[in-house]
Amino acid sequence: PIPNGTEMPNYNQDCVHVLDVKNMPQVLQLDDCRVIYSPQNIIGKGHYGIVYRGTIDYDNRERPSENVAIKKLNTMQVTQDFQREIVIMRNLEHPNVVKFKYWDKNTHSIIMEYLDGSFDVYLRYKAPDLTTNRLLRFAVEIAHGMNYLSGKGLIHRDLAARNILVDRKSHIDLDCVKISDFGLAQFANSEGYYYAKSNRDIPIKWYSPEATSTCKFSSYSDVWSYGVTLYEMFTRGEAPNLVPPQLNQEDFLNRLNKGERLPQSPGCTDFVYNELMLACWNAIPRARPTFSRIIEIINAEIG
Ligand code: ADP
Ligand code: MG
Repeated sequence: PIPNGTEMPNYNQDCVHVLDVKNMPQVLQLDDCRVIYSPQNIIGKGHYGIVYRGTIDYDNRERPSENVAIKKLNTMQVTQDFQREIVIMRNLEHPNVVKFKYWDKNTHSIIMEYLDGSFDVYLRYKAPDLTTNRLLRFAVEIAHGMNYLSGKGLIHRDLAARNILVDRKSHIDLDCVKISDFGLAQFANSEGYYYAKSNRDIPIKWYSPEATSTCKFSSYSDVWSYGVTLYEMFTRGEAPNLVPPQLNQEDFLNRLNKGERLPQSPGCTDFVYNELMLACWNAIPRARPTFSRIIEIINAEIG
């Protein structure tokens, strides 16, 4: 108890900073720069971590600060996965692939260019402005990014609208998309395949039958996922709905093996459905178009 007439010491005020420590800006000191972000500044949450928005300041004062995204992998994730994501990302350089900048081993953080949000949200938000032609030009950009990755022997394994980021410009026609999230990506063996050890916790609605049933991944299975991404685009951001929530993996696979496919939505033209989506969902992996073929097919259509 504070005796009457004495002045109360201002301990409480002095303690504010101590109590607030969880929300204090985080600083990552790197070789020639510093990355600063506030833990409240969360821009995304995925399966494997939290993504924050921050800024990067270079020791070289002439170089202006930049916005960056910091993907901090959760500690449950083994160091091996973190290192694989870095090794893959640091060697990628393409206008339709998100740009890696730095990494911090101690905090398991990947620092990359900051973009304006994920494509699934954009599709819903911009739905009224998304003409077939506008969407097809995004589809070509995604195919260019994927063609680059497959040329490097990389299998993405998680291609979906939520893993594509949008670089927004002054006009919708100038907006561009970039492939991101290399958390599941793997290099193919000399035959072009990657055999996964387990198929638990997988984005089954985006996966080809051979990927789900035999854990066999390839650029062909990425092409299948590209077809599902087209479905998301031409429904303007609807999640693929062939699987009712209670349906299990085996039933889903049975339906695909019987030839069932996602339906043509009202906003999807015959060309997109027949020449692109159904072609990507060919039961025979080798019969699916390659990403470079997809670019040709779309360019021939939009001129
Ligand atoms: P996870 O492996 O956990 O799925 P992602 O790399 O997909 O992580 O990131 C999760 C979300 O964070 C994305 O869907 C997106 O909304 C956001 N995000 C990721 N990277 C960036 C970035 N470079 N710029 C802006 N937002 C990003
Ligand atoms: Mg993701």
